[in-house]
Amino acid sequence: MEILVAKTAGFCFGVKKAIEKAFNENGERIFTYGPIIHNKQVVDELKNRGIDVIENLDNIQPNDKIIIRSHGISKSEYEKIEQSGAIIVDATCPYVKHIHKIVEQKYNDGYKIVIVGDENHPEVKGINGWCKNTAIIINDIEDLNKVDKNIGKICIVAQTTFNQNKWYKISAELIKYAKEILIYNTICSATDERQNEAIELSKKVDIMIVIGGKNSSNSRKLYEICSDNCKKAIFIEDENELDLEEIKSAQRVGITAGASTPEYTIKAVIDKVDTLNKVVENKYEINNKEEIDYGFKNLSVGEIVEGKVIHITNDEVFLI
Ligand code: SF4
Repeated sequence: MEILVAKTAGFCFGVKKAIEKAFNENGERIFTYGPIIHNKQVVDELKNRGIDVIENLDNIQPNDKIIIRSHGISKSEYEKIEQSGAIIVDATCPYVKHIHKIVEQKYNDGYKIVIVGDENHPEVKGINGWCKNTAIIINDIEDLNKVDKNIGKICIVAQTTFNQNKWYKISAELIKYAKEILIYNTICSATDERQNEAIELSKKVDIMIVIGGKNSSNSRKLYEICSDNCKKAIFIEDENELDLEEIKSAQRVGITAGASTPEYTIKAVIDKVDTLNKVVENKYEINNKEEIDYGFKNLSVGEIVEGKVIHITNDEVFLI
């Protein structure tokens, strides 16, 4: 079995930076505002170092350190932290910050903001907070009914991890609605590369394995993409969820992973898939042993024979 692993699998630079920032922080009361990534092991490791997760800002105190994760937050949340006297450790990904700036500026210029993304995702909630939560949020073509057909000026941005194909379809439709339209394709290049590689890889293999947290939207999108381009795609959180029975007949297996999947999880999955190859190698040895047994030949001293050496012991050499 051939195992092909995507080069882009695993942490993107935004997530890497956020995790580094969190692990480098020192102090008494440090919190991440929401889990730093959708990965329990990383969150638990931070907890062991005294960095807990808070889900709201109600009880923060002066001098607490609040780590903002790569998804970013709304303007009013920044203000709330500042007013409390707590210290902001900002690990918002620069790609997300860029969207905040566009949205705030265009909102102030009188554009209706449209965010193409998942309204429940923290990144989208944060972006919406830069236009006073007035954005129209569209996740599917069906959501276009939320948009008034005679809408004046609109400015469209995308959730950084949105599916490229869906983005093109939705933004192409929106052009028909507005009198004036600004389109910013804010899908980040890391996502873009990861998705493109997943498309190419999933076309080449029999089964595609996508590793990522069940709450990770970019991993789920990778799974959607792989399902569209491959006969079979499997979405797992780690090696424990991988059922080897499901993949044992495949000739070629592809592996990719979302932006919040640590390298050790990817490696553990590769190793587990690779055990099937070891089983195949063992079978090969057993078959050959049978050949040796049946084809055993008495040799006399000085006789020259030709063959391939497949095994050597202290006093024997096995040839086929
Ligand atoms: S997926 Fe892109 S936008 Fe999101 S954290 Fe990674 S690099 Fe930044």
